[in-house]
Amino acid sequence: MGDIVRFRKPSLRKKAEGKTLCRSGFHKWKTVSERKFDVKRGKLVTLLRCERCGEERIKLI
Ligand SMILES: [Zn+2]
Repeated sequence: MGDIVRFRKPSLRKKAEGKTLCRSGFHKWKTVSERKFDVKRGKLVTLLRCERCGEERIKLI
């Protein structure tokens, strides 16, 4: 009879959760540069980057 060993790695679990969220399309967007002028679109845009997976996205203003 041994003790029950609780083996938990919160950080790893959190990371896995984040990846799952990213795969589901729920990225953790962080603004990289605000009101940047996109020459191709001829509009002001905000560059966003996901803190978890590093994917980038442009938001039109
Ligand atoms: Zn992501």
